Amino acid sequence: MSIASKLRNFVLSCHCGKVRLTCDMESDLSQSGRCNCSSCFKTRMWVHPVSNINSLKLTTPESNLAVYHYGAKCTGHYFCKSCGTQMYMRGEYPGSPAFAYVSINCIEGLTQQEFSAIPFAFANGLEDNSNESPKFTNHL
Ligand SMILES: [Zn+2]
Repeated sequence: MSIASKLRNFVLSCHCGKVRLTCDMESDLSQSGRCNCSSCFKTRMWVHPVSNINSLKLTTPESNLAVYHYGAKCTGHYFCKSCGTQMYMRGEYPGSPAFAYVSINCIEGLTQQEFSAIPFAFANGLEDNSNESPKFTNHL
């Protein structure tokens, strides 16, 4: 089985519909995560990595988006200018490949039962250790 056969093209939209995008991700969404870093904690961002960042394509005008940078400014957090929904983040850290993560909650076409069945892992972004679960997670 090729890697591409495990991918699915998802459609995502913000609350008001002024921002829509498509991207390829693992079809079972098994790479999703919730992080305790200062940004994810405040926005309750539940993310999934985009399998190929070139597959992330806006289907609405880029001018409908605003971007927020903080800290080392290696990552841009993109959100709808109208309704404020955070749609995705993308960036690149020195010495690492570029990356993009989308907000799981913006995926269109999934039922509440399907959302509830998506597995996720916790990431300790607050202590720059994304491979480990933080000590406290109920609030994430
Ligand atoms: Zn919106």
